[in-house]
Amino acid sequence: MTIPTDHPRYGSLITRERLAGFLREGIVSPEGLTAHGRGEAFDYLIGERTTESALLAEKTAAALLSSSQHPVISVNGNTAALAAREIALLQQASGAIVEVNLFHRSEERVRKITHLLESYGATVLTGTAERIVPLSHDRALSYPDGTGKADVILVPLEDGDRCEALRKMGKTVIAIDLNPLSRTARMANLTIVDEVTRAIPMITGFIGTLQEPEISLLLKTTDNNYFLKEAMKEMNRRLADALD
Ligand code: ATP
Ligand code: MG
Repeated sequence: MTIPTDHPRYGSLITRERLAGFLREGIVSPEGLTAHGRGEAFDYLIGERTTESALLAEKTAAALLSSSQHPVISVNGNTAALAAREIALLQQASGAIVEVNLFHRSEERVRKITHLLESYGATVLTGTAERIVPLSHDRALSYPDGTGKADVILVPLEDGDRCEALRKMGKTVIAIDLNPLSRTARMANLTIVDEVTRAIPMITGFIGTLQEPEISLLLKTTDNNYFLKEAMKEMNRRLADALD
């Protein structure tokens, strides 16, 4: 199917085609498609744009990554399918370790996602995954030199259980999640309520320009609840005016 470029929802239809293609290649899981649908719904509510408060959260994420000793970016199937290039550029700017972590894990999927990320220029941590995250299923599997040592970990599109488990390990967790009500959004130290392909380039841009004393000020004043409440307010405002 060819989507006409003047279609009002051209961007999101192209994205859906892209995800469906990656599903056929075994990079995205069927469950990943439904998670994307939930994200799309929330993106609609927030106006498919980066809000002022999300921009501040992106700047704060840049401050956290810049001041981290061992930053890690944890990538799943949807994130790789949507934002492989953006992840590679963020890695270059931040020096973070990129690691593949999957809910529906198989070594073949890990390999395919690794190759996809590498084809966009990312360097991906490989090796033998071990049960280092306190979870009962395969989401426990991570790399000792990646998640194991991380102080700050960026988890775009993470699941609530794993986010909670990472907090229990003492990690500072940055989530990107369009749903401000999700467990992930509420469990993370910092949640960016924005679409992943908009959020990551913003973080990368801030890393190049942020300096002290602003970095310390951002870290001192971070309040995840503020970001979630601002996102809800924005959605409420848009709903209230939707039919005017
Ligand atoms: P939780 O487990 O945190 O309560 P959930 O079960 O609703 O949340 P998951 O499938 O675990 O959701 O995680 C996917 C999350 O990612 C969803 O909250 C969805 O809103 C969000 N999401 C999906 N696609 C995107 C995207 N492109 N950009 C940002 N967020 C997205
Ligand atoms: Mg979940």
